[in-house]
Parts: sequence; structure tokens; C-alpha cells
Amino acid sequence: MKQKYKTNAINLKSYDFGEADRIVLMYSQQKGLIKCMAKGSKKINCKLCGRMDMFVANNLMLNKGKSMDTVCQAEIVNSFFRIRESTEKIFYSMYCAETVKNFGQENDEESEDIYNLLYGVLSRISESGSEAEIILAAIRFQLKIMKILGYGLEFKLCNICQKEISSYSKFSLEFGGLICEGHIIPGEKGYRIHPKIKEFFMAMQETDFNNKTDYDKLANITVLKPCFELLKSYTEHCSPKRYNSTKVLAI
Ligand SMILES: [Zn+2]
Repeated sequence: MKQKYKTNAINLKSYDFGEADRIVLMYSQQKGLIKCMAKGSKKINCKLCGRMDMFVANNLMLNKGKSMDTVCQAEIVNSFFRIRESTEKIFYSMYCAETVKNFGQENDEESEDIYNLLYGVLSRISESGSEAEIILAAIRFQLKIMKILGYGLEFKLCNICQKEISSYSKFSLEFGGLICEGHIIPGEKGYRIHPKIKEFFMAMQETDFNNKTDYDKLANITVLKPCFELLKSYTEHCSPKRYNSTKVLAI
């Protein structure tokens, strides 16, 4: 008898397999990254059709296989259908999904936290009413996932001399956070950080998706976009795999 198990999982990517089947890469709440066979899911009238689409969160029943597990049942937990409303929502969701795909592993110890974070950000992006709200959700996601993965960013103290940062500072990809004015070499390339931006990052790091801060009302995309890009360069710097979706985002 085949061994069966249940888990919640979010679809990150799918590949066509033959005429009717798809192989779907998912991030699961209990077992981290899983790759499974979804038989018949390319056919329009198949029960799995739609449930195996990008970003959909399902409660799954899987058959354990030697090289790959097979989906026997899928019940939609959340399709995050409003993500499909705009290209911005799709792009930022793709970036978050790709981050989980690049850093995620089978049987991750932190799988529950990572799953919940991905679920949270997709939910926020799906329900966002403006581009600013979408980017704010993505920034929170970036800061939190890096912390879970052990690449947490330090904004309060200088990463070299440990002194509190009170004026302009520089963002360092290598040190994973800020370095104070004393270590800035004039003319050297890098991102100069205004003290207000430092405070913004710290606030985003501490609040979750459902708790609003003053920034949720005030922040506009001219400030948010470079902040997102900065953190994106950090996730790319730390990533064990290369990103594909971010090429589109960089436009
Ligand atoms: Zn310093």
C-alpha cells in the first residue's frame, strides 16, 4: 500500500509533463519544498485543473513516491485570485514565490514560518488597493524572510563598530545591514541611507502584515521602489540560486 500524507502547500512553479500532466513545485507548511506530479492537471475538465495554478494554496493529500510524490486530492485554501488583477501584483508575487523557491529546501526546519509568511504576503498583495500597498507588503516579506533564513538585516547598530547609527549611513550587502558614516569611503559605490529610511526599515521589520504603521498611510512609491530594489539586491546577493523573475521587475 502506498503511503499517503496531508499538507498545506502553495504552488510556486509548474512544468508541463507530457500531454496531460504537470509537475508542480510547491512550498508546504510541513515539509518545505516539494515537487509533485499532478496527473491530468493540464486537461480543462480535470478536478485538479486550476488548483495547480501559480500561487494557489491547497490542502493536499499526496501519495509518497520514490522520486516524486503524486497529488491525489487538492482542496483550495486560498486562490489569491485578485493577484491576477494587475501586472504589478503578479510581478511582486512572482518575486516572493521565487525567493521561497530559491532559498527553500526539502524538510526545512522553518517550513511552517516560511509557509505562513508566503501565505501572508500573497494575501496582502492580493487584497492591496494601490501599488504602494503592494510594495509595502513585499518589503515586509523581504525583511522577515531573510531573518527566518538566518540572513537578518541589522539597521540599528553599525555592522562594523557596533555604534548606534544616528545620521547618514551606507547599506552593505556584505555585512547585511548598515555601516556608519565613519566607514564610508568617499566616492565608493553603494547605497546611502537617510536616517528616516533606516527608521522605516526598522518599523517594517517589526510589524506584521496586519498591523498598520504610519508608513502605510504616508509612504509613496517614489520612496518605496528604491527600498524594495535595495532589499532585492540583498536577497539576490545571498541567494544560492539565480533569480529569473526579477529581470522583469527591474523595468
Ligand atoms: Zn561604524
